[in-house]
Amino acid sequence: MEITREIHMQQKTARRLILFPLPLQGHITPMLQLASILYTKGFSITIIHTQFNPPNPSNYPHFTFHSIPDGLLESEANTSDVIRLLTLMNVNCITPFRDCLAKLLADVSKDPVACLITDAMWHFTQSVAEILKIPRIVLRTSSVCSFLAFVALPHLLEKNLSIQEEPVQELPPLKVKDLPMITTRNSEDLYQLLSLAVKETRASSGFIWNSFEDLEPLALTTCTQKLTIPTFPIGPFHKYFPASSSSLLTQDQSSISWLNTQAPKSVIYVSFGSIAALNEAQFLEIAWGLANSNQPFLWVVRPGLVRGSEWLEPLPNGFLENLNGRGHIVKWAPQEKVLAHHATGGFWTHNGWNSTLESICEGVPMICQPFFGDQMVNARYVSHVWKVGVHLENKIERMEIARAIRRLMVEADGKEKEMRERIEHLKEKVDDCLSQGGSSYQSLENLTSYLLSF
Ligand code: UDP
Repeated sequence: MEITREIHMQQKTARRLILFPLPLQGHITPMLQLASILYTKGFSITIIHTQFNPPNPSNYPHFTFHSIPDGLLESEANTSDVIRLLTLMNVNCITPFRDCLAKLLADVSKDPVACLITDAMWHFTQSVAEILKIPRIVLRTSSVCSFLAFVALPHLLEKNLSIQEEPVQELPPLKVKDLPMITTRNSEDLYQLLSLAVKETRASSGFIWNSFEDLEPLALTTCTQKLTIPTFPIGPFHKYFPASSSSLLTQDQSSISWLNTQAPKSVIYVSFGSIAALNEAQFLEIAWGLANSNQPFLWVVRPGLVRGSEWLEPLPNGFLENLNGRGHIVKWAPQEKVLAHHATGGFWTHNGWNSTLESICEGVPMICQPFFGDQMVNARYVSHVWKVGVHLENKIERMEIARAIRRLMVEADGKEKEMRERIEHLKEKVDDCLSQGGSSYQSLENLTSYLLSF
């Protein structure tokens, strides 16, 4: 990503920020985007990162990178149980992170450090920051509404809610089945991780959101009241720059050349992000649902998406060939460019927050297929609050999939048409919030002054 530093516009600040992203795709991307945004505000940037899923420093020649050991065994360094992974790393990284940070703070040859910015899920960094007497600001990479659900979760779990379709009184319009649960080996790990993330965020000096006022006004107000620390909703981050290059996997550019051959708004783009996994039966239902929809589709099948398979082995022989070019499958796509392409008319998504925001920013309505955690909350908001997507709530089933795709892409009656109008309207709000005087623009100004006040 080429960043033009607006030195002529900004006063030279000569302060350094140290950022520590969580090594998962959906967290690394927004943290590096935030780093780039703050770089344009005149700060110099140092990134501390784990050996697991390291970013590529050559994409950011203007940043300084420091790698720390994460102590993960080969068998632990994967995302099949993300809660266990985060729990382990929050212990293993304490000493290497503290030593690295102490060294950086002691280096008087560089600009003085204004503060540390870390992912909310790196909860151990708050006490390290306190010991080293440096303010810590938290970046939360998901939606504000899902954070509020995480805040409420430990208390809700004690109530033993069991009727899945029942509304959660404390968190309208969520149902019990939308609570951000994540399957893990030891359910106590989830409880601990979330409680600590919330506790240490409360203890921090500020909170940055990749969201914007007009999208989540009530959630932002509630969050500010509950946390009583300065809050900076400056998103959507990715709209500050052209498509970024923090991808851990190589993006297959044939996605774009294939889209170039398709009619405007005819293609359903399908991706479930970097972590969600399917069993073989679900994968085949999706494949047949796409085939039966008769719509062109671009489908991201990440290696590892289907448990127990390398890649496309479960597909019947000749599956793609029989579709005569109507389907294109890639391992990883340049998603922002795909969503911005004129041929893309819908996004069947797992509703990770980055994907959800990227879809909103390009005015692409969604079919929601959440798998776990915050995705459930985001999906409910997409379908029931912003009303810019349809929710596939039942078991993954080919006929239901084909029907949902055809309704969204072809038959678009009154309801679907209104959905398209609403997402176009939200897209306009994105442009408004980022332009001079808009809410995110102003919030970024406030954040810059705040960082300079340390
Ligand atoms: N992404 C991509 N190519 C793909 C699929 C996803 O570049 O083929 C990017 C996508 O643009 C988003 C990120 O990966 O920025 C996924 O983050 P998200 O929060 O949506 O989901 P997660 O991977 O954390 O579940």
